[in-house]
Amino acid sequence: AAETALTAKVDGSAVAGLALAAAGSRHMFGVVGIPVTSLASRAAAAGVRFLAFRNEQSAGYAAAAYGFLTGTPGLLLTVSGPGCVHGLAGLSHATANAWPLLMVSGSCAQPDVGRGDFQELDQIAATKPFAKLAVKATAIADIPRLVFQALAATVAGRPGGCYLDIPSDVLHQTLTQSEADALIAAAAADSAASCSAPPKHKSLDEGIVKAAELLHRAERPLVVFGKGAAYARAEEAIQKLVDTTGIPFLPTPMGKGVVPDSHPLSATAARSLAIGQCDVALIVGARLNWLLHFGEPPKWSKDVKFILVDVDEDEIELRKPHLGLVGDAKRVVELLNREIKDQPFCLARSHPWVDAITKKSKDNVLKMEAQLAKDVVPFNFMTPLRIIRDAILAEGSPAPIVVSEGANTMDVGRAVLVQNEPRTRLDAGTWGTMGVGLGYCIAAAVAEPKRLVVAVEGDSGFGFSAMEVETLVRYQLPVVVIVFNNNGVYGGDRRSPEELTGPHKDDPAPTSFVPAAGYHKMMEAFGGKGYLAETPDELKSALSESFRVRKPAVINVIIDPYAGAESGRMQHKN
Ligand code: ADP
Repeated sequence: AAETALTAKVDGSAVAGLALAAAGSRHMFGVVGIPVTSLASRAAAAGVRFLAFRNEQSAGYAAAAYGFLTGTPGLLLTVSGPGCVHGLAGLSHATANAWPLLMVSGSCAQPDVGRGDFQELDQIAATKPFAKLAVKATAIADIPRLVFQALAATVAGRPGGCYLDIPSDVLHQTLTQSEADALIAAAAADSAASCSAPPKHKSLDEGIVKAAELLHRAERPLVVFGKGAAYARAEEAIQKLVDTTGIPFLPTPMGKGVVPDSHPLSATAARSLAIGQCDVALIVGARLNWLLHFGEPPKWSKDVKFILVDVDEDEIELRKPHLGLVGDAKRVVELLNREIKDQPFCLARSHPWVDAITKKSKDNVLKMEAQLAKDVVPFNFMTPLRIIRDAILAEGSPAPIVVSEGANTMDVGRAVLVQNEPRTRLDAGTWGTMGVGLGYCIAAAVAEPKRLVVAVEGDSGFGFSAMEVETLVRYQLPVVVIVFNNNGVYGGDRRSPEELTGPHKDDPAPTSFVPAAGYHKMMEAFGGKGYLAETPDELKSALSESFRVRKPAVINVIIDPYAGAESGRMQHKN
């Protein structure tokens, strides 16, 4: 019987599933159809759980977030042609955010290329601009090697998206089980050998000494960390650095939680002061891009000395910091901690810089708390966010994962919601991508099964992928989606009189949706739980029940359409 099992034939779909499982993949997100339906089932049979979505775009965002949360590549499976095109959303989003993702797509049969085959597309050309590596299996025997190679490429250096194309004829080719096993074992051995090769980075010794000196001599030092530090699991090292040196810190939006927001040295509430006046800034796993005002005046002082820690040498070349340290964030900060230990320094308790930041933070926090303390009905953004913040904090540890998107909902939410654990905030990210929320929720729920997932979504952001509430119900995931319903993008019709002329002036505004839409009923349509919340008591009771039950729920929170600003805090760009 064993012999027959080994001589039994397996097809390309089965080989792909087995290779993915052998490479350590545990989850795959996607949409099935010609020619990958069997690949999904084969992968599942081999141990790779397949999460079937309603649209590849959401599945791609799920795979991207999974890569960030787990530090291992998120898998996205798409059908040929249009499925591949929808999948580009997730592939490009992962690359833009420096998160590892492998998109695997079926494509039309090789002999039919150029003849107008079903869903024909040059998928290598389509994916290349967004992928670190785009490769095609031209025969079944290629599959194991390319699976291992593409997975490794997603996490090598700066993480990002990669693409593996498997034409339908290759999916249908066969091998014996023993041939497949041998190819997979050989691919695994090659991959292990190339991973154990020593990294080619230059020595860090000199840079570490210089960095420690710069920080030591600084009058107004600041530590900034981003989602690259969160991805690198540098939280212990960075917390230790902050605690031993007494240097204030500032997280980027998804760096939040690497050091708890509740830490006394948090400069979040004194951000403008901190970045405007620091003289040495240690930036760990964060790009000096638009999110950090390019590291330039007027937001930053023109004399600030940047110490940049990044795994990607090109990033350091691009920014030309005072000092660049190429390496893994966790390792570099550990080395820095070791160097500092030989020369311990700690900003004095009553250091003027720390005092200035602490005072400014306290003032700003008091101002915000005064705003938050009011129960404003109809709801503004502050009142429901305070109620949500308190409900999330009451969950304790492990803290829920907060998913957030929208304009005002995300901007105000970032200030109000508290992250005390790393990798517990997922938002629109480097690209400001809207529509990521539901995919993120599904990824977070499967990647971190002990955590509740709470999405705080603008009604527009929710709408991009609202059909995935069915996916939440189908897999019974512990996800509570809170929709801030203000009747549209930025809150309904805000057209000026000049914009309200012409033949289409009676059309709904481009920014407005059906007023008071019943989003909670969409969830009920699939058997999940829906709540409508227009008052603090209704919201509190919906949160307390849905957090306790840990089943899919949508809470439709009605917000005053005139609360909030157009484009949130990005008006200058609109
Ligand atoms: P944020 O949006 O939080 O500011 P970015 O996505 O702009 O963060 O920057 C993250 C940076 O982290 C990228 O430049 C990326 O190359 C870098 N990075 C990714 N992984 C690591 C790692 N393991 N160690 C150090 N840096 C990393």
